[in-house]
Amino acid sequence: MSNGIVVGSGPNGLMAAIVLARAGLDVEVIEASATIGGGMRSAELTVPGVLHDVCSATHPTALASPALQELAPDLERHGLRWRWPAVDIAHPLDGGRAGVMVRSLDETCAGLGKDGGAWRRTFGPLTDHFAELVTDAFRPILHVPAHPIRLAGFGLEALRPATWVARRWRSDEARALFAGAAAHIIQPLTRPLSASVGLMLTANGHAHGWPVAEGGSQKIAAALAGVLADAGGRITTGRRVSSIDELAGVDVVMLDTSPQAAADIVGDRLPRHVARAYRRYKQGPAAFKLDLAVDGGIPWTNEACRRAGTVHVGGTLEQIVASERAVSRGTMVDDPFMLVCQQYLADPTRSSGTIHPVWAYAHVPNGYTGDASEAILRQIERFAPGVRERIVARVAIGPAGLEAYNANYVGGDIATGASDPRQTLFRPRVAVDPYFTGVPGVYVCSAATPPGAGVHGMGGANAARAALRRLR
Ligand SMILES: Cc1cc2nc3c(=O)[nH]c(=O)nc-3n(C[C@H](O)[C@H](O)[C@H](O)COP(=O)(O)OP(=O)(O)OC[C@H]3O[C@@H](n4cnc5c(N)ncnc54)[C@H](O)[C@@H]3O)c2cc1C
Repeated sequence: MSNGIVVGSGPNGLMAAIVLARAGLDVEVIEASATIGGGMRSAELTVPGVLHDVCSATHPTALASPALQELAPDLERHGLRWRWPAVDIAHPLDGGRAGVMVRSLDETCAGLGKDGGAWRRTFGPLTDHFAELVTDAFRPILHVPAHPIRLAGFGLEALRPATWVARRWRSDEARALFAGAAAHIIQPLTRPLSASVGLMLTANGHAHGWPVAEGGSQKIAAALAGVLADAGGRITTGRRVSSIDELAGVDVVMLDTSPQAAADIVGDRLPRHVARAYRRYKQGPAAFKLDLAVDGGIPWTNEACRRAGTVHVGGTLEQIVASERAVSRGTMVDDPFMLVCQQYLADPTRSSGTIHPVWAYAHVPNGYTGDASEAILRQIERFAPGVRERIVARVAIGPAGLEAYNANYVGGDIATGASDPRQTLFRPRVAVDPYFTGVPGVYVCSAATPPGAGVHGMGGANAARAALRRLR
């Protein structure tokens, strides 16, 4: 019987382990932290009984993921339930206005008024054929596409800067709504390919919504661990792997780590050109996270924001373009782009009486050492006057804290690598098999590999399948 070790228990690590174990390998996952899950953990961070997601909050990509879809009945058996908010995304603007996206394309288009037609022309075809699109988009760029015409059509749009795509909308609401989704790329929105993430995440929202996991994102990790155990896999926590020498005699090693950590772990055995590529791998801007316990929830001026699972805070498209550009250049701004999630609206089990958990993070420069809490609160207050009086507790964690929490977040980069044009297409290096390290049996499977960041497990699934092909 062949054996495998997976270093790291994020969604990609656990998915890689499941694919290998289901193929008959004897598999062990080794996790540095005391708890499993990587970016899918939850904890009572502020006050007892109020459950916060430490990292991932909302999970459109999990619903889109072919690998997770395949496991859906098993994950449900192990306690995973998705819950949808009434409004998927709201994007407040000054004066009480907001761009609003719900799962229904018709309803969203109706809400966007004169821009509804252009929204439908952009997202209708992508949504109708979303499963086909995902089949190709969630794989390495160099492959024979299953749906070449569909992929080519998407590719032509995705190659553009987000600001170009946004020109088709005239209202602040529609333009900001798209900019908020596009800003998940954490790159300047004037760069080529910066439209790609906004197009995918919005179509993903119309196809599946932006749901949360009942009982916290940790439940996704727990359910994946349950599926792994069913397949005979084991998990060891509290052990950091520092060198490949610790894993002698193992047929397949999967590294759910950053490329830099992979270079450290594999050391001199790594072919020189691969080591060089891993060392030169670029980090993106960082996150500064602020978790709040809020009595009665955030008093957003706009009513749709009070019903939204995710609120994109950053003002107009032009304001987001300016703040994202500055942060990418290493300059902190007074009005950063931010994500605010109100998971409790879809999953009331997370609250304690009238005290609700609110999850927020701002984009800040990589390695930023200041405290962005005030900037975050000011931005929320701009669209929700009176919020400060309702905050009963708060906990902040900046880039250094995030990296200490999870070594994959180098400098606080929560996407495990910049999604600049080159690394959007080729990560962690230019190669037909980007998962293979060049050392027999050793693979990288983290968000530093295609298709990149997010809870979807596709890096892990793709890497494990590449390993199985070589093993046979
Ligand atoms: C604040 C924040 C908010 C986010 N929000 C969302 C969201 O709303 N939706 C979404 O889809 N995604 C979100 N993400 C991104 C998502 O969490 C990640 O893209 C995803 O978890 C990456 O999965 P992974 O398996 O590649 O690595 P990770 O989840 O980062 O897991 C890697 C694991 O490997 C372990 N490890 C690393 N090195 C070693 C070693 N040497 N030895 C042993 N173990 C090791 C780490 O401890 C960690 O547990 C967010 C991330 C953060 C930080």
